[in-house]
Amino acid sequence: MRNAARLTAVLSLIIVTALWTAGRDDASGGVAAWGRLAALWSADLLLIQVVLMARIPWIERAYGQDALARVHRWTGFASFHLLLAHIVLATVAGFGWGLFTRPGMLWAWAATAALVLVVITSRRRVRHRLRYEKWHLLHLYAYLGVGLALPHQFLIGSDFRGPAARAYWWTAYAIAAGSVLLFRLALPAWRTVRHRLTVDRVTTEAPGLVSVYLRGRRLDRLPARAGQFFVWRFLDGRGALRGNPFSLSGPPRGDALRITVKVVGDGSERVSTLRPGTRVLIEGPYGRMTAATYAGGPVTMLACGVGVTPLLALLWDLPYGLGKATLVYRTRHPHEVAFLDELEWLAEHRGVRLVPLVGPRAGAGSWLPAEFADYEDGEALRSLAPDIARHDVYVCGPDAWTESVLRAARAVGVPPARLHRERFGW
Ligand SMILES: Cc1cc2nc3c(=O)[nH]c(=O)nc-3n(C[C@H](O)[C@H](O)[C@H](O)COP(=O)(O)OP(=O)(O)OC[C@H]3O[C@@H](n4cnc5c(N)ncnc54)[C@H](O)[C@@H]3O)c2cc1C
Repeated sequence: MRNAARLTAVLSLIIVTALWTAGRDDASGGVAAWGRLAALWSADLLLIQVVLMARIPWIERAYGQDALARVHRWTGFASFHLLLAHIVLATVAGFGWGLFTRPGMLWAWAATAALVLVVITSRRRVRHRLRYEKWHLLHLYAYLGVGLALPHQFLIGSDFRGPAARAYWWTAYAIAAGSVLLFRLALPAWRTVRHRLTVDRVTTEAPGLVSVYLRGRRLDRLPARAGQFFVWRFLDGRGALRGNPFSLSGPPRGDALRITVKVVGDGSERVSTLRPGTRVLIEGPYGRMTAATYAGGPVTMLACGVGVTPLLALLWDLPYGLGKATLVYRTRHPHEVAFLDELEWLAEHRGVRLVPLVGPRAGAGSWLPAEFADYEDGEALRSLAPDIARHDVYVCGPDAWTESVLRAARAVGVPPARLHRERFGW
């Protein structure tokens, strides 16, 4: 599937280049023509980006969120730099006031402004200063950019005139818009209506940590698996349409689902006060840290804080042998260790080895607690499981912590196909 997606993207760029070559009769010379090619590639990459982020299930399964986010970032910046090249080359080619007065140009400048905003706020340094919701709202301006660029392209873009070019671009725009409408709106709406999830009860697992049990219709038909997450919207009053991603903290059952939420801000706070009967909108399931990617054999799981939720679901779900699974559970304080009943049951009946690692961090960049500061990160993994390179390793927690575990696991030879992770960040 990854290859098919790559091939489609490369093919689309080749088609665009071929259409440009075929229609190249530009009286204003080479610079203008190269400027148009830059614009065509930019538009094509932008559409590819829209399709990649449309949450199409088989693309998500093939790439996973991490890889998709990387490709999305790369195509986004490439598309934007090509757009800048287009503007510079059109200026050099002497379009002068035409850059403002030709049909559709004001829309094109508005599109550029929207995309500039998206690119600036995507820079890591700026992004981390913004609240998630603000950043997300600004990021949606990319769709506005795609839409506003349309009149300019079709009104004055000479490469959009021939029947083949028109057919290609209308098809590309229709696929991009159709993917978003179908997979980001229609499918979640259909699943929400079909399964009618409501809150059954809310229980406290540890201070500031609550589980929400949900009931619904025909949940056996919901294609969710242990290890996956949904974006949840609880219809409990004002601001309910703001979604938050939470993983399933137990394997999905035919009649019930469970999530477990740490209170860190407004969205998670309101989850802790939900009343039974509250209706729920769902978007998902997403994520590919499921049994589908389990190679078999021994398993080492490393969780930090609330990152334990999808790993707990997987401990119930994966078909590992008796005594062949270890859960390393990292928390800052002893009272943050949750699900002790379930973990004891798993230890007794499936031989799961529980290794709690409690305490403040050993140091910047380390995944270990201070107590083990003498250990090197990779060495600590090896002391947990000397043959860890032959294990399936599952990691979930905050970004920086997850990254340091992944680094250590790679350093001790765990192959990429056996490293499974979910990041609780953005
Ligand atoms: C794939 C995934 C699975 C997750 N699973 C769980 C889980 O099972 N249990 C749990 O307690 N937490 C989970 N989280 C983290 C959880 O989504 C955030 O803690 C929560 O959304 C915070 O929202 P808030 O309004 O309470 O806090 P805010 O103050 O609004 O946000 C606090 C921080 O949470 C992150 N965040 C907020 N909204 C989102 C969003 N829509 N998408 C991604 N990150 C966001 C941002 O880093 C933000 O800085 C998961 C996150 C991701 C990405």
